[in-house]
Amino acid sequence: MESLKEKVVIITGAGSGIGQAAAVQFAAAGSKVVVADFSEKGGAETLQLISDAGGEAVFVKTDVSDSASVQAMVAKAVETYGRLDCAFNNAGVGGVSAPLHEYDEKVYDHTVAVDQKGVFLCMKYELQQFLKQGGKGSIVNMASTAGLDATPNMVAYSASKHAVVGMTKTAAIEYAEKGIRVNAICPGAIETPGLTQGEFAQFLDQYRANQPMKRFGTPQEVANAALWLCSDAASLITGVPLPTDGGLTAK
Ligand code: ADP
Repeated sequence: MESLKEKVVIITGAGSGIGQAAAVQFAAAGSKVVVADFSEKGGAETLQLISDAGGEAVFVKTDVSDSASVQAMVAKAVETYGRLDCAFNNAGVGGVSAPLHEYDEKVYDHTVAVDQKGVFLCMKYELQQFLKQGGKGSIVNMASTAGLDATPNMVAYSASKHAVVGMTKTAAIEYAEKGIRVNAICPGAIETPGLTQGEFAQFLDQYRANQPMKRFGTPQEVANAALWLCSDAASLITGVPLPTDGGLTAK
């Protein structure tokens, strides 16, 4: 992880769960971390964790579904640290669980706005900054095993995560010659507040029984994958939706 030292990285949804674990790990690797989250409370908690460990970070309140807010997030990174090297576009919502024929349209729109359009907006303005700097850079988008396989009763989440995988591949090809890599991570069930207190809670026992390792992942294990994909150790890897799921999708 030597190559992450002094790198400037934006992490969206860094106030909780996987994003928070990644923020702490990037800071421990010597990166300068832009903690972007809708939640000021979560952001403050992450800043505290990083400063307690002697790392460097700044918080920017961000709504990834809002274009002006995302532009302000990238501007804050550049204003604070002078440039942008990496981004982990991780912010997301789970939507609710319901059969498709009853799925609430407002919930659908909100889920897609955050999980799908949010990743588009983040990539758009991060890529503009990379290009301004003359190219080079690495983006990791948060997808899910729900972006690879069917996830019954989760139509909005499934649609959004499949779109993230598609946008990741498309962006990877569009910018490969500029030295910009774009990858996605596809976690299975991970022990985060979003999972254990959210809509997925009712499926947890069934999931664990079906997962080859018979356990959930940890936020740190997913963060490890994000750090590796951002680092120069993954210099030949682009356009990949990487499952971090204990073998679930292989099964
Ligand atoms: P997980 O870590 O499994 O993705 P969490 O719910 O623990 O799930 O974390 C998701 C994070 O994304 C939270 O900190 C939440 O505040 C953040 N988030 C949700 N919606 C938005 C949004 N529109 N813009 C920015 N951050 C958001």
